[in-house]
Amino acid sequence: MTIRLLNCFTCNDRFGVLKTGMACLLVETNQGLALVDTGLGLDDYANPTWMTRLFRIITVMPFDPNEAAVNRIRQLGYQPEDIRHILLTHMHFDHCSGLADFPHAKVHVHKREYDAFTDGKVLHWDEFAYIPRYIAHKPVFVLYESVDSKWYDFDAIRLPFEPEMYFIPLFGHSRGQCGVAIRTSSGWFLHAADSSAVYNDETPKWLIHLVLGPHDAALRAFMKAHPEVLVSNSHMFPGFFERHKIIV
Ligand SMILES: [Zn+2]
Repeated sequence: MTIRLLNCFTCNDRFGVLKTGMACLLVETNQGLALVDTGLGLDDYANPTWMTRLFRIITVMPFDPNEAAVNRIRQLGYQPEDIRHILLTHMHFDHCSGLADFPHAKVHVHKREYDAFTDGKVLHWDEFAYIPRYIAHKPVFVLYESVDSKWYDFDAIRLPFEPEMYFIPLFGHSRGQCGVAIRTSSGWFLHAADSSAVYNDETPKWLIHLVLGPHDAALRAFMKAHPEVLVSNSHMFPGFFERHKIIV
């Protein structure tokens, strides 16, 4: 069992201080390859949405299609149809723009997040980041709602894969965002998505709370109590990708 950490969307601030890549995970499961989040898809490079165009103005991004998940997996010797499952932490533009590049994949997501994306209502400003065209190819969705497990002290939803995997509901940054916990040979990997910024000590706490929701302090405390668990967020600094290219 191997997890590969892929940077599928570099996005830096305009001051040259915050440099981030988008952590997408390529996971070997008993049901073929699963991808956690997609980054920007090829269609966004060819024909950027208004949201992507806005981010190209307010941030610095190389906007290099070699970073698209479909090209990342080709660089590893796989084909798009090898991706059987896509797990979405949430459906903001930078997490699901690449869905159409994997038309053979079933898409697993929390029902609250799917509803937030599809119900046409904007209940919070983050919901402007839902771009309907990303599911215009009508992928098969597998929706999850009921908490059926505990993972450490977190409520968890068991996912139908081996290695053992869970959605960890971490609502706040978006209506239905979940982290993904994956058992590794040495312990656990928790991909906490955009629920926190646990390696960022520069950004003020109030700003983290405003943008990412209420979980940052609890996740930092969890990391202290459980150093055996590797924790990641979605937008990680370049050295993190170097250090954790392959997780076994
Ligand atoms: Zn987000």
